[in-house]
Amino acid sequence: MTATAPITQDVLTIPRKLPEGPANIVGLTRDALRNALITAGTPERQAKMRVNQIWQWVYFWGVRDFAAMTNLSKDYRAMLAKHFVIEVPEVVTREISADGTRKYLVRIAGGHEVETVYIPEEDRGTLCISSQVGCTLTCSFCHTGTQKLVRNLTAGEIVGQVMLARDDLDDWPKPGEGMGDRPRLLSNIVLMGMGEPLYNFEAVRDAMKIAMDGEGISLSRRRITLSTSGVVPEIARTATEIGCLLAVSFHATTDEIRDRLVPINRKWNIAALLDALREYPKLSNSERITFEYVMLKGVNDSDEDARRLVKLIRGIPAKINLIPFNEWPGAPYERSDWSRIEAFADIVHKAGYASPIRTPRGEDIMAACGQLKSATERARKSRAEIAAEAGL
Ligand code: SAH
Ligand code: SF4
Repeated sequence: MTATAPITQDVLTIPRKLPEGPANIVGLTRDALRNALITAGTPERQAKMRVNQIWQWVYFWGVRDFAAMTNLSKDYRAMLAKHFVIEVPEVVTREISADGTRKYLVRIAGGHEVETVYIPEEDRGTLCISSQVGCTLTCSFCHTGTQKLVRNLTAGEIVGQVMLARDDLDDWPKPGEGMGDRPRLLSNIVLMGMGEPLYNFEAVRDAMKIAMDGEGISLSRRRITLSTSGVVPEIARTATEIGCLLAVSFHATTDEIRDRLVPINRKWNIAALLDALREYPKLSNSERITFEYVMLKGVNDSDEDARRLVKLIRGIPAKINLIPFNEWPGAPYERSDWSRIEAFADIVHKAGYASPIRTPRGEDIMAACGQLKSATERARKSRAEIAAEAGL
């Protein structure tokens, strides 16, 4: 076994062994950074100013070297270099699709790997980030759900994905010119990569707070969308503590089918989920909730399903994002026919909801929704295991 191979193949979250030595600044909230600076010897009356200065260097300019922080004294820089590092996860491989989509395989502490995907579009550039290695949930149509190894990412590893993508895209402001007239290449974040973000709430929250901070990366909360499979007890907190947009992996219109597709439904069923969703826009003062709906041939794609769907969500400001199923090796489903997807979209649209059909991006590099699973993570649940867990 090499030094970078996964430590164990445990199904449960592995308690994280923090690396010894200097602390990583990336991922610390402003308060945590302040405390860390004081512990390292910064006088309390200076702490706030030092946090502001370091914050700007790290998150506005993208600087990784204390020596470049020219508005700090040499002694202070030396002190920082002794106690801290500024580190983002390492990019192991980068693949670029024919359509411009970029998929990064990213190595985090302990040798685990996750995937991050950059999707350029005409008017925006969206980064799809991961919140866990693998996923403890086992949605039966999702490739990530077949990965056995799971651990939560730290806040630094989550916001670090944004930073490493900006490095690769050369998307940081340049000294002297700031952002100039350049449009931001990375303008939006979706938490739709590997993992269930609401099962790693604190780290996701801290990372998104850092990404939204106006003195740094400064992305508006309306440009961040968190997708959940339906962890009902954490939905209100998402509104009040993060305030970003919400997407929900709905995927079915009866509990019977949703139990099979999204097994967390057995814990919080459609009615419980809808109750939580009704409160979300009020709590977060935000607009529509995105209902994600994967189109699976003969499973959830009938006209009747479409009609049931619009009835269920009545009263919730919503947009329905139809996702043609992205196939992966061994997947137990097929993509609905195009004409079926269009007929479904039509019913939803006529009921007054936007119903865009999501164009699969980066399919040639297996970067599309639900295809993510680190290539080097070989532990795989068998078809029989997936079927049994999904009650197929
Ligand atoms: N765990 C979170 C976020 C990651 S998945 C969640 O489940 O919401 C992002 C979206 O892709 C979800 O709606 C998910 O259900 C969907 N998805 C998963 N596998 C897919 C596949 N093979 N084809 C199309 N969409 C898929
Ligand atoms: Fe996990 Fe989301 Fe995949 Fe379900 S769809 S297994 S919650 S990553």
